[in-house]
Amino acid sequence: MVIKEATCIEKGKVRYTAQFTNSAFGVQYREVDIELVEHKLGEWIDEIPATTEEFGTKGHYKCSVCGKYYDKDGQEIAELRIAKIGTHNIIINGESKFYADGENVTITAEDKEGKVFKGWKDASGNLVSTDKNFSFKVSGESNYTAIYENEPTVAPKPQEPKPQPQKPDIDSAQTGEDSLISGGMLAGLVCAGLVVIGAAAFVSVWFATKKKY
Ligand SMILES: [Zn+2]
Repeated sequence: MVIKEATCIEKGKVRYTAQFTNSAFGVQYREVDIELVEHKLGEWIDEIPATTEEFGTKGHYKCSVCGKYYDKDGQEIAELRIAKIGTHNIIINGESKFYADGENVTITAEDKEGKVFKGWKDASGNLVSTDKNFSFKVSGESNYTAIYENEPTVAPKPQEPKPQPQKPDIDSAQTGEDSLISGGMLAGLVCAGLVVIGAAAFVSVWFATKKKY
């Protein structure tokens, strides 16, 4: 039974009910997630070129459920606007901004609690600067993201367990020896037991015999 239909942004839920013919077992339920479904894309909207005065609009599909925009390859479009002629779209930490061509821009990475700034990376994942303040000249569309690593904890890291030198030959030899010993001991115990039983039998026979008289 579907409790919640999956959409493109939220998983759904289905509940399975198991009833047993044997009344000793109660009814059992199990809830399972339904994976995300594809976006409900509307009609293709053609690109509207930018002018020096107006932003353009990239050609796109719009999902009627989540409201996001997608290109012909199904890739999400972060910024639907096309920069005015003479300007460029620069996405900094996912935030879209527009700058004039040739403008010098400095972006600053903010401090994050418990994180160590590692650098700025571009859209291809290349590290472009390890300085919190990264300056560049605007010459085209760019995408910069500040990357961080978790601060190393004060407590020393637990040591990697040292690889134990393997002595499979000695180990197996020892095991063999052990089992030999325990086998011998077991035999000894069995013998001792038989002796005890024998003695007890002798005693009871002896008592039985004695009682007769
Ligand atoms: Zn969607």
